[in-house]
Formats: sequence, structure tokens, C-alpha cells
Amino acid sequence: MAATPSYLTEPERKTPIGGDYDVVVLGGGPAGIAAAVAAGMHGRKVLLVERYGFLGGMGTAAGVTNFCGLHANVHGEIRQVVHGIADQLLARIERLGGLNAPHLVLGKIFAQAYDTAAYKCAADDLLLSNGVEILFHALATGVVMENETRIKALLVETKSGRSAILARVLIDCSGDGDLAAFAGAPFEKGGADGQMLYPTMMFRVNGVDAALAGDAWRTIPALMETAEKRGVNFPRKGAILRPQKHSNEWRVNVTQVKNERGCAVDGTDANELSAGEIEGRRQALAFFEFLKREAPGFGDSYIVDIPPQLGVRETRRIAGHYQLTADDVLSCASFADTVGVNGWPIEAHVAGDVVWRWPDIPGSRGFNHLPYRMLVPRGLDNLLVAGRCASMTHEGQSAARVSGGCFVMGQAAGTAAHLLLAGNVANADIEVGQLQETLESDGAYLGRDVAGN
Ligand SMILES: Cc1cc2nc3c(=O)[nH]c(=O)nc-3n(C[C@H](O)[C@H](O)[C@H](O)COP(=O)(O)OP(=O)(O)OC[C@H]3O[C@@H](n4cnc5c(N)ncnc54)[C@H](O)[C@@H]3O)c2cc1C
Repeated sequence: MAATPSYLTEPERKTPIGGDYDVVVLGGGPAGIAAAVAAGMHGRKVLLVERYGFLGGMGTAAGVTNFCGLHANVHGEIRQVVHGIADQLLARIERLGGLNAPHLVLGKIFAQAYDTAAYKCAADDLLLSNGVEILFHALATGVVMENETRIKALLVETKSGRSAILARVLIDCSGDGDLAAFAGAPFEKGGADGQMLYPTMMFRVNGVDAALAGDAWRTIPALMETAEKRGVNFPRKGAILRPQKHSNEWRVNVTQVKNERGCAVDGTDANELSAGEIEGRRQALAFFEFLKREAPGFGDSYIVDIPPQLGVRETRRIAGHYQLTADDVLSCASFADTVGVNGWPIEAHVAGDVVWRWPDIPGSRGFNHLPYRMLVPRGLDNLLVAGRCASMTHEGQSAARVSGGCFVMGQAAGTAAHLLLAGNVANADIEVGQLQETLESDGAYLGRDVAGN
């Protein structure tokens, strides 16, 4: 029998043009939402392309249900430091009754939980009210180049077929750097040992007796240790369990999903992802059995949601004009081209554990600047990259990847796209002072008023 060939050649075909835009944003997570709104509110013709039928990215599709990185511990005082478009989104979620008050994390910083349904609806409204068009259920699969350094069109596959969307500036907010990779931008995966942050299958339980559960996020790790002594295995230490808006509903962030080699599942590998989804759900069920059996207040609870996809923290990170590092985060670095700040510490999801590293609290200002250069890929003039796939080292990414940093990067990239078009310049040649003034007049906080290192 003849061996199966490793590829086949498809016939050449004509691809319909699916639209012509000033700015095309790939991905509707926190970075993509902010990028699209920023370009839209400056009057640009913007299309956001998203493979799911809703916005929110990992925040909804992976059931994260909690904003981190909106705040920083500034010399001992916890303040919201991410503003601008993030405020508009938070206000809309709040109006829908879907936003918790901020809660304290590890005694040092705030995070803020939300309801995924409210997030989806609030994000739709925010984009539409800023004139952004949305193409849901569209998977980006490639690009057509105009020349070596300029992208001409994004190729998408939808139920209505394949199309090419023309764009003058593109912003990759896919989380996985798909667009940048299609266009040949250099990127990295993993740290020095090649390991990426481990993914987690989130889930939520309802029917919790909140009074009995008490501060379960403090007591459950101890229950897990006791159970481990009896031979019960958990995928990782560091269970994060917290109530949502209604105190009978809790999110559970505790699973950790490996591939066959024992490494973090690669969210850009379809086979690994497929196996990871199944393993993530298996771990969720196993942990839920433990919760019901052993955690006070969870005896009558039930799983109300296992989200549409495995939660992927890290895949490709583009290697841009500057890579944000661990040292930048821990030393609260300043950059002349700041476009906003990150106040979240290093939260490394390593094999079997979650390892936290903080800047000096309260000795420091508790946040680092995020420089414009981390949004600029090398060798491509009309592409910007924002969110968890922006230019950061593995360790830098383990801090600035959370929602707060992604909103900042997204707003900066969308605003920069508008200015690139206005000035007819390449991404690396932007007038940074003008970008900073525009961001500040749009309500963003660039962190220039508090001295850093
Ligand atoms: C389990 C888990 C727990 C977390 N906990 C927290 C937390 O408590 N608080 C917090 O703030 N952050 C948390 N994070 C991190 C945070 O959710 C993400 O880092 C953040 O959502 C990244 O935003 P983003 O916009 O860069 O990308 P994403 O949120 O990943 O969004 C990317 C979007 O692009 C779309 N997309 C990707 N590729 C394509 C394509 N080819 N075609 C079309 N669409 C595409 C995706 O569907 C998605 O909607 C967590 C992450 C995980 C995985």
C-alpha cells in the first residue's frame, strides 16, 4: 500500500474581498476590545474579527470571570491605575449588575470579579457605540502581503466561506500572535527551558452556602494538604476559589493541564488543545467531587459552568522593539515611551504550583510602565500587537498578561493605529509624545506622576 503523503496542493482560487477598513483588529479579548474602541472613537473605520460569537477572550471564553491588573499597590495604598476605555467597560458591566466590588488578593492588591453574560453584553454595546463593526464566527487563517513589510489583507474562514479583508493598519490581539506569525514576525514561546505557563480549565459552582464556606480561599488549600497526605492527588497547589456577584456562585481556578510530555499544553497545537480540553474537564469533575465531599458550604453545590475552552495563559510572544522583563516588573521600571501601567506581580503558573513575585510593597510605587515599543513587531510596518502576545519575556508576560495590562496595551495600539494613519507613518516612526497626549486626553493613566526606579 502506498504511504500517505504529508501534504497535498490545493487548486488556486479567487478569494472574495470581505471589506476594506482603516483598521482591522484580530481578537475580541480585553486587548482587542480596547484597541477596536480606541480606533473607532477617533473616527476610523474599524472591523474586529473574532472566532467566537461573543467578546471577552479568555475572560469569557475560558471563564476567567475576574479582572486583575486594574489596580496597583502604590506605596501601601491600593489604587485603580488602569483607566480610559477600561472605565467605560466597567461602567457598562456595573450597570448590568454584573460587577463585584474589588476584593483583596494575598493581602496586597485588588482584583474584581464579573459576570460573563454581563461582560459579553457590555462589550457589544461599547464597540457598537464607538462605530466598530464586528465579524463574529470568523477564524483568521492567513494574510496577503503587499510587500515584505506591509500586510495587505487578513484572510478569514467563516460559514459563508473564505474572504480577504483589506486593511491599512492591523492589530494582532489574538492572544496567540496568530496574525503576526502569519505575516512572518519573529516570536518566542516559553522561557529559557522552553516551558510556557500552564493552562487551566476554569469552572463555576452554584448552590454554595456562602456563610458556611466562609473564607474558603484560605481554608481549602489546607484541606487539600490534608487530603494529599491520604493519597489524594491534585494537579497543582494554590487553589483559587472566590465568590462571584451572587455569593452562592463561586469560580474555581485549580486545574493544570499538561501534554503527553508532561509540559504545558501548547494552545497553538490543535491536537494538544483537543486532549487538553478533555483532561481539563476531567480534572474539574475530580476537584468538584473533593469540594462537595470535604469543603464546608459546598455539599449541595453543583457545576453551573465549564467554559467553552481551556484557559490558555501563554503561547507566542512577539519579539518586538522592546521586551518587557521580570526585572522591569519587580523594579517598577519607567520608560520614556510609556503608554500605561501594569500593577500586577509575576504570577507564574509552573508545574504543580503558582509562584508569585512582587515589587517591594510598600517601598515602591507598585507598578511599571508599559512602553509603546513592546507593541511594535520587527520588520512589519503596518502591524501592532497588543495583549498577552505582545513583546515580553516569559516572566514579564506572566505579570502584564492579565486583563488590566491588556486593556492598556489595546487602547494604546488602537490610538497608535489612528495616529499612524493620520501621519501616514510606519509603526516604529510614531510621534510618541502625540500618542501619550492623546491617550491622556482620552482618560488613560500613563503613570508619569509617581517616581519609579
Ligand atoms: C485560567 C486563566 C485564569 C486567568 N485568571 C485571570 C484573572 O483572574 N484576572 C485577569 O485579569 N486575568 C486572568 N487571566 C489572564 C487573562 O484572562 C488573559 O491573559 C487575557 O484575557 C489576555 O487578553 P488578550 O486580549 O491578550 O487575549 P485573549 O483574552 O486570549 O483574547 C484573544 C481573542 O482572540 C480570539 N482569537 C484568537 N485567535 C484567533 C483567530 N485566529 N481568529 C479569530 N479569533 C481569534 C480568541 O477567540 C479570543 O477571543 C487568566 C487566564 C487564564 C487562562
